[in-house]
Amino acid sequence: MKAHDGMYIGGEWRPARGRDTITVVNPADEQVVGHVPAGGAGDVDDAVRAARAALPGWAATPPAERAARIAALRDVLAARQDEIAETVTAELGSPLPLSRSVHAALPVAVAGSYAELAASYAFEETLGNSTVLHEPIGVVGAITPWNYPLHQIVAKVAPALAAGCAVVLKPAEDTPLTAQLFAEAVHEAGLPAGVFNLVTGLGPVAGQALAEHEGVDLVSFTGSTAVGARIGAVASAAVKRVALELGGKSANVILPGADLARAVNVGVANVMANSGQTCSAWTRMLVDAERYEEAVALAAAAFAKYVPGERIGPVVNAKQRARVRGYIEKGVEEGARLVVGGPEAPMERGYYVSPTLFADVTPDMTVAQEEIFGPVLCVLRYEDVEDALRIANGTVYGLAGAVWAADDAEAVAFARRMDTGQVDINGGRFNPLAPFGGYKRSGVGRELGPHGLAEYLQTKSLQL
Ligand code: NAP
Ligand code: MG
Repeated sequence: MKAHDGMYIGGEWRPARGRDTITVVNPADEQVVGHVPAGGAGDVDDAVRAARAALPGWAATPPAERAARIAALRDVLAARQDEIAETVTAELGSPLPLSRSVHAALPVAVAGSYAELAASYAFEETLGNSTVLHEPIGVVGAITPWNYPLHQIVAKVAPALAAGCAVVLKPAEDTPLTAQLFAEAVHEAGLPAGVFNLVTGLGPVAGQALAEHEGVDLVSFTGSTAVGARIGAVASAAVKRVALELGGKSANVILPGADLARAVNVGVANVMANSGQTCSAWTRMLVDAERYEEAVALAAAAFAKYVPGERIGPVVNAKQRARVRGYIEKGVEEGARLVVGGPEAPMERGYYVSPTLFADVTPDMTVAQEEIFGPVLCVLRYEDVEDALRIANGTVYGLAGAVWAADDAEAVAFARRMDTGQVDINGGRFNPLAPFGGYKRSGVGRELGPHGLAEYLQTKSLQL
């Protein structure tokens, strides 16, 4: 893995305009793994100009040809999976098996889905005497976080390319090496120059310049609700489209007839994956009063499998570690019962947090309301199904969730009443074509599959 000392703009690696750099650190051992340039407004402007110049040609490229280039990109990502996994592990700290099975593999599936959708999507439809054209929105400014560094890039860039848009990407400062690898893959796949551009840099500098740039037609952001709200305001003022994938505080609802052991074990695994740094993680487990203690004991037993440094990696940086530990202290202060873990760091080196299980959590506690983004699970008690629904819906977020019941019909009936964007029914599998996105303050817009493609299109009606 080598770090580029330039920006990928207009189909080539160009020196940055300034001299500022970002130091990339491995959160597992705190060693420096590389340096990348920290771009400014000038670099963003260069990248947006390159994208604007490439836009008309790419927008006019027949969808079948765009599909072929996206298929080539998928093939490069597939061929370079080992290098991708090692790079993600080096800058995010995730254990290598997770980097391989999720961080490197999922983007191949998503890129593949858009190679197919670009070829099959109905970019034209007939409505009475009208022909409706679904045309690319234009230049996309994509701002991505570090938690699923390649997936979040591909979930924006692949549909944007399928739609015929040109893209400028500002990836997270913590994981720029994966973004540089992606730019190499784009180059190797033979995408026309300027269709994809990369500016590494800091959020409040390069990210803000990109969100504010008048040459950007759509800002697609994934990250915190606080930054997302600001980006939404800036975009709205300029009458720009915006897509926001924000935080979550999802509920894992275990109804009285459910297979308790399975629901608890899958629920714990869901929260521990990626050290709890998953926006859609089911960080609140809801159990009926009768089986509550049994569920807590099962969860505690499941936690024993997640040994820091083995199955569970560190969190991304020292700031996140301090933030997560602060939430654990807050949980203790507000009277939650600490069953496993606590605020102490489990290792001397690396940004590790002790996997922490809280019981006797009430819906009003801070740990039950705010996104922690670490390996922390809260178990809440409900009195009856109506109470479970009130608790499940009782946060400002609505990104994901799970329902377990004696049968699918009962779980589906409950899920229909949840204010959330996606629900896994009795352990339903992840579907890379299903729309992903939030209700309430979890965001605006959807990613993945045909719904994700539609975000990058605008319609024109021709009356014949
Ligand atoms: P963040 O600041 O919202 O970062 C997301 C992206 O936005 C990064 O590329 C970031 O750049 C950029 N950014 C930051 N400030 C910006 C600004 N003023 N204008 C334009 N872009 C800007 O998130 P974070 O600080 O990494 O994490 C904080 C919390 O956000 C986490 O604890 C978690 O709760 C939540 N989060 C949610 C998700 C999710 O998938 N929904 C992902 C990550 C984090 P920098 O990398 O330079 O900051
Ligand atoms: Mg930040």
